[in-house]
Amino acid sequence: MNEINWYQEVLNRKKELLKRCHEFLAIESVLDESTAGVGRPFGRKVAEALEFMLNLAEQDGFQTKNVDGYAGHVEYGGGDELIGILSHVDVVPAGDGWTSPPFSPEIREGKLYARGAIDDKGPTMAAYFALKIVKELGLPLSKRVRLILGTDEESQWRCVSHYFEHEDMPAMGFTPDADFPIINAEKGFLDIKVVGLPDDREESRGEWTLMSFEAGQRVNMVPDYAMAKLSGDGDVFELKEKVQDFLLTYRIQGYAEEADDHLKIVVKGRSHHGSEPEKGQNAALELARFMDRLPLDPNGANYIKMINDLLVDSFFGEKFSIAQEDKLVGKLTVNAGVFGYTKGDQHFVRLNVRYPTSGDSDALLKRIEEKVADYNCKITDLDHKPAHYCDPDHPLVTALARVYEAQTGEKAELLAIGGGTYARVLDTGVAFGPLFPGKEEKAHQRDEYIEVEDLLKATAIYAQAIYELAK
Ligand SMILES: [Zn+2]
Repeated sequence: MNEINWYQEVLNRKKELLKRCHEFLAIESVLDESTAGVGRPFGRKVAEALEFMLNLAEQDGFQTKNVDGYAGHVEYGGGDELIGILSHVDVVPAGDGWTSPPFSPEIREGKLYARGAIDDKGPTMAAYFALKIVKELGLPLSKRVRLILGTDEESQWRCVSHYFEHEDMPAMGFTPDADFPIINAEKGFLDIKVVGLPDDREESRGEWTLMSFEAGQRVNMVPDYAMAKLSGDGDVFELKEKVQDFLLTYRIQGYAEEADDHLKIVVKGRSHHGSEPEKGQNAALELARFMDRLPLDPNGANYIKMINDLLVDSFFGEKFSIAQEDKLVGKLTVNAGVFGYTKGDQHFVRLNVRYPTSGDSDALLKRIEEKVADYNCKITDLDHKPAHYCDPDHPLVTALARVYEAQTGEKAELLAIGGGTYARVLDTGVAFGPLFPGKEEKAHQRDEYIEVEDLLKATAIYAQAIYELAK
């Protein structure tokens, strides 16, 4: 067979590819439980985005399947073995400050701007056109290829949980939802809620009573704002001075302020992604560090002491005695992302622990459980995503590397990351693009875009990859 010029095949379809991208990106496919129903578990617009892709594929002569609105797939090829490409049609909310409306796609200076342009609707369309090119070229395949369309990637991955209860797991596959060249190692995640209840410790002791303590909204972010409310008969002036001293000593922003029946202390830190907690400044941990010096009521003191004994100055799990690392993905990290304490009610801290691919999640959990038990706390709401690793010598990795190198002329370095990609859903899978090395990452940000040229290049790479994996 003559050498196929994959990029030229993409160029031949550029107009149509961009047109479809525009239509697809115009659907505001943000999770909306208020419009959820049978066949649309994540709301009307998410369902519309899924149906858009499936309809398009049907018109182009593909076999499609919608699995209860949770996910769907587009299939092509023949044979028993299944190759998977996993992408998602849902997007995060747009937020403010866009130059052009986030759901009115617009190309400016070679960049296609829209929410979802790079995460993950642009890449979904790239993967779809890749499959379409393979089909239109009439290339014989000995395997079936499925483009699997998730709908809840940005939230809880309920889409793929449901989908794979009903559909086969591909023998191997890739997800176009992260970075080129190839990500083959990802840390494991333990999202843990540590919860305690007030007990009947003597209430009268301590000059100050902790009324509330709160910080953070997402377990995988470093909280940049923390607030505590205190009541009691202590010396307000003296306490405010202590706060000022502390803020100066530790070079932290914040303030203390009197209200009718309480004193409010606010600490401001610096947010950062939870995969690198040491690079942010955790406002809650700093506030707890300060409050450890105060004579507090016993229940309040217990909560603050737990935070200090187990989390303050311990981003790598040292105080839990779970510190460990491997050569591939580096150190275990602990991000304390969300805090809540209300006097007389349950209190909690939510942790995002990321452990090396060699780590033992059961042993880690057991150790954490033992440690928090000293403070009368338990673990609830556990969410575990095992570490993900694909052998560099696996035919999947070697095939994708060959394709990437052939089309870009660059070496296909393997990447190991602390974050998590959609690839971990696949038993044997890697993340493969679409963001090229050195390019600005705009996923989840205002003015999200994909460079049109990169979209075309990615489509060509995916087309050849599909062919190489399934021929
Ligand atoms: Zn994504």
